[in-house]
Amino acid sequence: MISIDVITCLPEILDGPLNESIVKRAQEKKLIEINIHNLRDYSTDKHKKVDDYSFGGGGGMVLQIEPIYKCIEKIKKNKKIDEIIYMSPDGKKLNQKKANKLSMLKNIIILCGHYNGVDERIRENIITSEISIGDYVLTGGELPAAVLIDSISRLIPGVISNESAALFDSFQDNLLGHPNYTRPSVFNGWKVPEVLLSGNKEEITKWREKKSYEKTKSNRPDLLK
Ligand code: SAM
Repeated sequence: MISIDVITCLPEILDGPLNESIVKRAQEKKLIEINIHNLRDYSTDKHKKVDDYSFGGGGGMVLQIEPIYKCIEKIKKNKKIDEIIYMSPDGKKLNQKKANKLSMLKNIIILCGHYNGVDERIRENIITSEISIGDYVLTGGELPAAVLIDSISRLIPGVISNESAALFDSFQDNLLGHPNYTRPSVFNGWKVPEVLLSGNKEEITKWREKKSYEKTKSNRPDLLK
């Protein structure tokens, strides 16, 4: 089982993504454990404020070091943490390889930033890995954290019903996934490729490999290098 502790000042944003469908069932089956920590619970401010002005000016609020530090220390008291991840647009870009690696760990912490990010001293001294979900800026780290958790969860054995299906997803083996069809075999005159209805496993595998390769060459030639 992998245990994921998420630190956020807006826990409500995570409610939907983490409490539906496959990720929800994975938690029910005790294949993953997700604990959400509200940063405001670690604030000493009477209004539960967790942000302050950026030293040097320039606009934008920054999440303060103290509540984050206290929250991480509390989590660390009960378990040995393998990675403390900060979701950040300037981090290393998330890919399937990184998700595969993280899915093999036991305990991870994910810190969600907000406003102008977090006090840099947290990144300098405590964070062990910084992950971006793409070259664009979102308002907070909660959606990126949900994306990361989803990508990890489906790799945990038993989480998706047909485990081997994850092996044929896009990016495993640096290839994009093959196309899929389901019933009816003809709709509006549009037919499913004959080979998929043939029952010939060898031919189907060959066809799928060819389609994967063609799609990668056309959409993501960089993956073939
Ligand atoms: N000032 C920061 C910068 O220029 O890098 C952007 C801060 S952003 C408005 C607020 C928070 O959203 C970040 O601290 C981070 O946690 C999260 N975030 C935004 N875009 C993200 C992305 N592409 N990947 C991961 N996290 C992101």
